[in-house]
Amino acid sequence: MNWDIIGHRWAVEQLRASIQAGSDAHAYLIGGPPGLGKALLALRIAQALNCESSPGDPCLSCRACRRIAHGNHPDVRLASMERQAAGLKAEEAARQKELKIATVREWQRDIALRPYEGRRRVLLLHDAERLSEEAANAMLKTLEEPPPHATLILVANSTDLLPTIVSRCRVLRLRPLPRQQVAEALIARGVAAADAALLAAWSGGRIGWALALLDDPEALARRSAQLTDLLAIHAEGRGAGMRWAEQRAKEYRGGEQETVFAWLELWQGWWRDVLLIAAGSPEGVVNIDRHTELQQAARRHPLPQIFDFVSRIGQAAQQLRENGNPQLVLENLALHLPRAAM
Ligand SMILES: [Zn+2]
Repeated sequence: MNWDIIGHRWAVEQLRASIQAGSDAHAYLIGGPPGLGKALLALRIAQALNCESSPGDPCLSCRACRRIAHGNHPDVRLASMERQAAGLKAEEAARQKELKIATVREWQRDIALRPYEGRRRVLLLHDAERLSEEAANAMLKTLEEPPPHATLILVANSTDLLPTIVSRCRVLRLRPLPRQQVAEALIARGVAAADAALLAAWSGGRIGWALALLDDPEALARRSAQLTDLLAIHAEGRGAGMRWAEQRAKEYRGGEQETVFAWLELWQGWWRDVLLIAAGSPEGVVNIDRHTELQQAARRHPLPQIFDFVSRIGQAAQQLRENGNPQLVLENLALHLPRAAM
């Protein structure tokens, strides 16, 4: 198979067979947590539908495959939060929480057009979990009866969408890959075995996340420094925690929401590891390079306290996503930092 996708073999096989048999769907929903390779799979579907030399099994080298990969094929169109916010100032862009009805309308006008040079017109809609209710309702008719020359592909970071949307799509739910598979893929790209094991553990099976990190060599060092910062906050106590909360809240309001979510994820990963060690099941530990510190933390905190903080971090992230006040949410989290029983 030519799809050049790591993992998700069941999805590739199903797509390939249906495209070759002409029984492919007119609307797909690719769902799953961020960093699993959903966007790449969507791109491959567009290529498989329009490849000039081997339909169903994209050659990745013909003119159509290459133009689709570079985002400049006239029959493959993309809408996303990023596109919607293009041209806006950073703070304005940060305030955009939903895919608006205007974005969907524009997308719909595009769908109506016949293909210029490909076989099918492919419309990709990223961030579909952020469709406003109004925009989602506007899409229903198109999903129900798409023009015969069009394929619609919704990509969403959850499959928690309006049931009326989900039921009109062929749903592909992607799952995290086994740690071993991520490590092997990294080693095949020239990563040293020890680094690959660490990255694979950190990735939680999100292959796209791990590969993106390879393009950013500083990212590993940055992550490690951030974790060291978080542990220092913990050692220093609540004053340091409050300063940390204030800084993150400022970043959040300045449009760097994803940076703040990354901090929370890192922190939660750390405390989840402490929990695993305290509970005597270290196999799932993510921060495999920090065993000594993890064991120390596990010894110093009672299990319920660790458990409580892990869930508080998750709640804080959820409150931010639901538009909670960043300063209040993060300060409240810092106030509940577990205190070590020496
Ligand atoms: Zn091709």
